[in-house]
Amino acid sequence: RGGAPEKEVPFAKPGSLTRVYAVASGKGGVGKSSVTANLAVALAAQGLKVGVVDADIYGFSIPRMLGVEGQPTQVDDMILPPIAHEVKVISIGMFVPGNQPVVWRGPMLHRALNQFLADVFWGDLDVLLLDLPPGTGDVAISVAQLVPNAEILVVTTPQTAAAEVAERAGSIAVQTRQRVAGVIENMSWLELPDGNRQEIFGSGGGARVAESLTRLVGADVALLGQIPLDVTLREGSDNGSPVVLSNPTSPAATALRGIARGL
Ligand code: ADP
Repeated sequence: RGGAPEKEVPFAKPGSLTRVYAVASGKGGVGKSSVTANLAVALAAQGLKVGVVDADIYGFSIPRMLGVEGQPTQVDDMILPPIAHEVKVISIGMFVPGNQPVVWRGPMLHRALNQFLADVFWGDLDVLLLDLPPGTGDVAISVAQLVPNAEILVVTTPQTAAAEVAERAGSIAVQTRQRVAGVIENMSWLELPDGNRQEIFGSGGGARVAESLTRLVGADVALLGQIPLDVTLREGSDNGSPVVLSNPTSPAATALRGIARGL
């Protein structure tokens, strides 16, 4: 790649104690960013030091979901990330004026990601979560190059069409030789007032993705959890107060905390 030389990413150094997870999905709208935001807050509530990089260039929604108020500030040659609910956050949306779409090509995205990972003052993080754009694009490849030790978390809904593309997104781990940390199924069912579960998007997508990724990567890939549809999850994402904080006893929050504990 041309231009400025690549900066060394501290999280990729041998001996780094930060676990890095890249959260991926096959298509948009399956809840990848909501899951990322809630896992971040749940991990921070466990007492871990957590950072989030919002690298979803098409739908940078993490700042709103986490209720980030401030902007990044520059001190010397480092960028100080704003903090929300004890989580340090940097988003591509913080560097784009107004509500403009990001029309950057691969090399620019790569440089931006390199800066997020190398020039942001993260301190000693226990966990760094990267919210990837949906699909198998340039950003996923850049993450693999910049932080080869990043593990992939795949988010899908139970629906066959979503599961098929989620498999494809997860299977880039074969080429990049990254570990797949597991599969998370979101929007698994809606609990009705009578206690029955209505499977709005069908069933089995998460298990199917876990099975086929186990075959493809040649290592055990588990279904880490199933998160039900929940109005308060959607409201929490809209209001900047993730459901694990705003409605901690809800089944959705319980599922998300369980997934966070298992990471
Ligand atoms: P993605 O990052 O995959 O595009 P989002 O996290 O932005 O998806 O979620 C898409 C929409 O669905 C958001 O409005 C979000 O609040 C909502 N949503 C996600 N998961 C759930 C859920 N389990 N129950 C209810 N709404 C959800």
